[in-house]
Amino acid sequence: MWKSLLKLRHLAERFIKSKIGNGANTRFWYDNWTPLGPLLKLLGDSGPRSQRIPVNASVASACNNQGWILAPPRTDAAVSLHMYLSSIPLPSVSDSEDGFDWYVEGKPCGGFSTQMTWDVVRPRDSPKDWASQVWFKGSTPRHAFNMWIAHLDRLPTLTRLASWGLHVNPTCSLCSASPEIRDHLFIDCAFTASIWDLICNRLGYLHQPFSNWSGLMRWSKHRSETAPKVLRLLLVQALVYTVWRQRNNLIHNLQRIPPQTLFKDINRQIINSITARGHMKRFKNLMPLWLR
Ligand SMILES: [Zn+2]
Repeated sequence: MWKSLLKLRHLAERFIKSKIGNGANTRFWYDNWTPLGPLLKLLGDSGPRSQRIPVNASVASACNNQGWILAPPRTDAAVSLHMYLSSIPLPSVSDSEDGFDWYVEGKPCGGFSTQMTWDVVRPRDSPKDWASQVWFKGSTPRHAFNMWIAHLDRLPTLTRLASWGLHVNPTCSLCSASPEIRDHLFIDCAFTASIWDLICNRLGYLHQPFSNWSGLMRWSKHRSETAPKVLRLLLVQALVYTVWRQRNNLIHNLQRIPPQTLFKDINRQIINSITARGHMKRFKNLMPLWLR
């Protein structure tokens, strides 16, 4: 265990900084005590010789009462070091002992912080422009998760299962008219389209204003007076979740529920969401827009 931890020293190095007190316990060349990082890295292996400070010297031993006892600088890096040293008070025996703290992005954490540290060392991908449509404030977690999988087109549709070699009929179980792929299931399918019609009529549309998944994503981030973005996002996520659940219900339990009943279910989910989040600014005026 400790061997594994020691292997991570190079990761931890940049987070541990010394706050100089009397300078006795901080190593001049190895410890991280200036904004320039460990000085051995800054000036290289020739640093101790060119600055005439022994490699194991403490910060306290690199100065006397008059000032720092370094040799004149001959490189840009050494000039930077001299400039920095001239800007800080000299350590003195009357000062308190040196202290070490865990710093993340230049800020002391008052001890080790797992959350802040993980946040800066974890692998990061570039931000996705659709992320705010999936993980928005006020979303229903199970709807958002299902939406995330659907947007990545990773739901185990019958067409996908068949492509993995499973002996399943890939035809959409809701309409029996087309192969079950994501865009069909949530947009084209006659069963789903009749739910969309009820939703769109409620929002004042004569026709369903999108014909594929990217069109649906574009529509859901638009805003209008009668259909604010947050209402669109709630509706899209509730529909995708409800249709997927009904599709599973039909395949596994052979339970057929008409679109009108599912619309009532979505309606109830939207009302519950708006009621529960009424204290949030963007949810304040949604109820009259949805129940008009
Ligand atoms: Zn269908």
